[in-house]
Amino acid sequence: MEIGLVTYTPEKVKGYDYHVYYSKWVNGSVFPAAKGMQNDVSCFCDAKAIREKPSIAAISKNGPALRKNRKANLAFDYVCPTNPEYRMKVLEYIKELNDQNILGVTLNLYHFPEEGFCVCPRCVELWRTSGLNWIKWRAETITQFISDAKNVVKGTFAVEMFPDPVLAKERFGIDFDKIAEYVDYFHVPLSARDYTTNYWVDLLARDFLKTLKKPVVLELSAEMPNFEKMDALLKTMAYLSRFNFKAILLLVHNSKNAEEICEFAVKNKEYRDWLDRFEFSNMIKIVEKWATVY
Ligand SMILES: [Zn+2]
Repeated sequence: MEIGLVTYTPEKVKGYDYHVYYSKWVNGSVFPAAKGMQNDVSCFCDAKAIREKPSIAAISKNGPALRKNRKANLAFDYVCPTNPEYRMKVLEYIKELNDQNILGVTLNLYHFPEEGFCVCPRCVELWRTSGLNWIKWRAETITQFISDAKNVVKGTFAVEMFPDPVLAKERFGIDFDKIAEYVDYFHVPLSARDYTTNYWVDLLARDFLKTLKKPVVLELSAEMPNFEKMDALLKTMAYLSRFNFKAILLLVHNSKNAEEICEFAVKNKEYRDWLDRFEFSNMIKIVEKWATVY
């Protein structure tokens, strides 16, 4: 099992095998490619593009896919995934990234915002002419986008997802089996303020591992402000290291944050004894590797 980082700064940190860099954000900011890294692209969530042209937002009977519309419980503002100009813009950006020496691309938020989206006149017309039922049309629309993106990616190709292993197709148009044909691995984010309660991590991790037909990497939030939370994170990582994940990725603010986690684990005798006592061999290897650096 590898250990990696998900980060907002394009800096590699010692002790981590793998770096995922947010190159296009949900607020619409876009950054130059991070060379040698996996570049993560937020596709259809783009608050800036919607501010500039509100008509491109995805729409439902309960209004637009915007955070300020509290009839829809959404964390981000979503562009309609069939908007041809916007789609092209995202694909062009992905193409530009691949002209640089990057490791690969991870797509994020490449799907419909929720059930009931999108009923803009273009989507309704496309659905009608497709002859498919609504759920199937939405899933095929998203799989087509994945396929188009895959065509311009030279390196490792992966997708993130909203962590719902059961209803992803109905809610977002995400057909895991179809998408598995295109991606090298799936990136499952299990974000939280802390992991002091972690049964849900175990539950979703196992469900995804069983459901997804390609390797899986798990992302945990590691922007931990205190030792108690860091300890809970490291123990959760140890439990997960017993399963067959390709990697665990830690979401951090910056490289200092990533180094602090290594240092805390390396110098925490109680934690290392606990790993030994219960034979968490994969996690022991990771901490031993960190101990050569920190
Ligand atoms: Zn639409």
